[in-house]
Amino acid sequence: MKIAMIGSGYVGLVSGACFADFGHDVVCVDKDARKIDQLNANIMPIFEPGLDTLVKTNVDAKRLSFSTDLKSSLKGCDAVFIAVGTPSRRGDGHADLSYVYAAAEELASAIDPKTVVVTKSTVPVGTGDEVERIIREANPTLEFAVVSNPEFLREGAAIGDFKRPDRIVVGTDVEWARETMRAIYRPLFLNESPILFTSRRSSELIKYAANAFLATKITFINEMADLCEKLGANVRDVSRGIGLDNRIGSKFLHAGPGYGGSCFPKDTLALLKTAQDNDSPVRIVEAVVQANDLRKRAMGRKIIAALGGDARGKKVALLGLTFKPNTDDMRDAPSIAIVQTLLDAGAQVYAHDPEGMEEASKILPEVVMTESAYAAAEGADAIALVTEWDAYRALDLAKLRSAMKGDAMVDLRNIYRSNEIQAAGFRYSSIGR
Ligand code: NAD
Repeated sequence: MKIAMIGSGYVGLVSGACFADFGHDVVCVDKDARKIDQLNANIMPIFEPGLDTLVKTNVDAKRLSFSTDLKSSLKGCDAVFIAVGTPSRRGDGHADLSYVYAAAEELASAIDPKTVVVTKSTVPVGTGDEVERIIREANPTLEFAVVSNPEFLREGAAIGDFKRPDRIVVGTDVEWARETMRAIYRPLFLNESPILFTSRRSSELIKYAANAFLATKITFINEMADLCEKLGANVRDVSRGIGLDNRIGSKFLHAGPGYGGSCFPKDTLALLKTAQDNDSPVRIVEAVVQANDLRKRAMGRKIIAALGGDARGKKVALLGLTFKPNTDDMRDAPSIAIVQTLLDAGAQVYAHDPEGMEEASKILPEVVMTESAYAAAEGADAIALVTEWDAYRALDLAKLRSAMKGDAMVDLRNIYRSNEIQAAGFRYSSIGR
């Protein structure tokens, strides 16, 4: 199959490289010329484990190439995937579909007959109808199909997720387009990943429903953690005790500082906007969005409480800034609200992150970035563990403590045990324990 991928970000680049690895002929297109220049020089524009090797292998095998020229890239393609961003629209929280519609307009006059146009971006129900309308208006006699194929990969584990998905969802009623999608994903369902065919609208909603459900699970255990703190219970035990029930499952039951990242915040918000517009409110998701928003600043206040309630002139060291480990993605990371709360209270903030400091410096210019966890701790009154990178799981606690001026350690990911932290001379607080 010959495939073009429009948008070479976290999703487009990983999907394109994996399709090439299956043996398809793939061109990844992006309008960001710098990104394409980097990719052509085998420099990855994002940090994703294993991506550099995967890209190089497939470029060397001449199955994967990069271009800024969409029109020439579309020649002879069986399918063109739209994998551009769909951020929250400023002002009202609806999904901003301007990049998707711009891509549809650009491809409309350049695709061959019987090309499948696949929306991989996360888009509200009805977007496929509009993409179809845009293409038909520009090219009224063309035979084409618009298919929804949402992506479920997680940053940090993206290649494994793409190659061994729990399911592949394909939304279309057009039989020849289903055949093309079957051929593209054949290597995966030969490996027994189920492929689920639905209507386009159901497929679009599946992605939002999945993310909203996962966000709900996280928020649920976070609220249980707060209750544990009041009642003298331990959220890790509660989480294990409920997660062992197969109907509940143990994943996404880790209490922490609230969900962030490039998907859950914007997708939960977009879902509730769609629901409100259709007079079918999703009250549970509304509560989740609100609880999660409030939680991030509450985590900043938790650190201030560990400082004795007054942060003015105090130095706080943060370990981890990205929204989760193994990515450099800072979009909607809880660290942003935590830093803001600390700065508002008059603290100075120092930080370390294994991969995220370059991105973080753009968003948080007031934070002093340091070369190691120990350098961040130098002279600090309090240290807070914000993202659970492996590099922070086995810190030399004595060295960390002796670098610090104060003795407060706030573990927002519950990665340490209180007895080992206290033995190293810290005053320790964590989440729900
Ligand atoms: P991203 O911002 O990393 O990448 C989008 C890319 O598209 C950018 O490089 C941008 O320059 C490019 N682009 C925009 N308009 C273009 C155009 N007209 N022509 C060519 N290139 C264009 O975004 P992402 O994180 O890869 O997300 C893409 C979509 O996938 C979103 O809808 C997102 O919700 C969804 N998604 C993301 C993830 C994730 O973990 N990041 C997971 C599942 C789904």
